[in-house]
Amino acid sequence: MNNPVLNHSCEQIQPPLLTMDKALNFLLDAAKTPTQTCNTLLNDSLDRVLAQNICSTINVPGFDNSAMDGYAIHLKNEQINRPGGFTFKITDRISAGSVGNTLESGCAARIFTGAPIPKGANTVVMQEECEVSDDGNSVEIWRPLSLNENIRPMGNDIKSGAIILEKGLKLKPQDIALAASVGINTLEVFKKIKVGVFFTGDELVSPTLALKPGQIYNSNSYALVAMLKHLNCDIVNLNNVEDTLDATVSALESLQYQCDLIITTGGVSVGEEDHVKPALEKLGKLSLWRIKMKPGKPLAFGQIGKSAFIGLPGNPVSALVTFFLFARPFIKKMQGINNYKNQTTQVQCNFDWRAPKLRREFVRVKLDHSTAPASANLYPKQGSDVLSSLVWAHGLVEIPEDCSFSQGALLNYYSLTDPTL
Ligand code: AMP
Ligand code: MG
Repeated sequence: MNNPVLNHSCEQIQPPLLTMDKALNFLLDAAKTPTQTCNTLLNDSLDRVLAQNICSTINVPGFDNSAMDGYAIHLKNEQINRPGGFTFKITDRISAGSVGNTLESGCAARIFTGAPIPKGANTVVMQEECEVSDDGNSVEIWRPLSLNENIRPMGNDIKSGAIILEKGLKLKPQDIALAASVGINTLEVFKKIKVGVFFTGDELVSPTLALKPGQIYNSNSYALVAMLKHLNCDIVNLNNVEDTLDATVSALESLQYQCDLIITTGGVSVGEEDHVKPALEKLGKLSLWRIKMKPGKPLAFGQIGKSAFIGLPGNPVSALVTFFLFARPFIKKMQGINNYKNQTTQVQCNFDWRAPKLRREFVRVKLDHSTAPASANLYPKQGSDVLSSLVWAHGLVEIPEDCSFSQGALLNYYSLTDPTL
């Protein structure tokens, strides 16, 4: 795709106005998929991304086994599906991990869950349905019995030769367990990506310090680090960087060869105090966009050294929302994850939207699950500086540009609270 940037060598020209879809497509097309892999032990593989399909070389279970504590029985033909009242001689005891002897016709073996079905046995009866004689030598059953009751057949879970986990899967606990269940101890995964972050703005201070007049705390630093940890990235955090061209250039220089991606917040408008654009243009390539969305109009994207660059807006809600909508799928693609795009569901809006807006809006909502589909209630203050709106909210409703609707309309919803999405 061509770079949708007009001429940005001239200071007077405003960055191009783009639809969100165009900006996202451009960004995702530019995200490089990973090539380097490494092996991890299963216990270190949570949230890593599989670099190859995993194929089982064994059946699971590897043998027919009992689904119950009870009695394995060799039913005679004339006993199958007949009214009960049959007595079977107990000739064996098979616990999980041991192998029993061949069961003669009309005989029973005491058996426990997971123990192999002995040769000759053709059904298993749970112990609650069995009456054992006082001397413990025989068992009587009073209901009709059919073949193969309570037997888990070989390969019931996994067949030998089957692909059990696919390349590009971000590993969850159950995936790791499945690999262990087929006797795999290490997994080939993509190398972690390293993300460098810094934050522009002379007003920013660390929450360890007392505020002086005009200062604010750097909350974006904590938002970004936490979101990158969620995505299992390695992080280099340079924290606050002075709002000068020199400081911005040297921050970028220190990160450009050690990181796969650099993310900043603030300084991507075209004000005099915004040095990200000139610094990036000095070292590499930059596209600066005004995106037809709210929150989060200004967004920068570029490349310096071996690192991609994403410059997010400074306002805390804008920074978090644009990280979620742009940086997150970009990072997931760089990590080799198959399903890297954000997932949406449909919710019904509990509010009207009377006046169409030029920009697509991502409003903070809380869901009421007592309706189906769930209904979305708006936070009363939707300003991009109101960080508490994101703490209150469950997610974002996407309101298309140029649209109006009444209460009950169905719209796309992005969960900010479901970690699996
Ligand atoms: P900017 O994009 O640099 O023009 O910043 C827009 C607004 O976001 C200003 O009110 C900044 O003070 C605020 N802001 C910028 N960076 C941060 C940050 N790291 N943490 C909290 N607020 C910020
Ligand atoms: Mg600033």
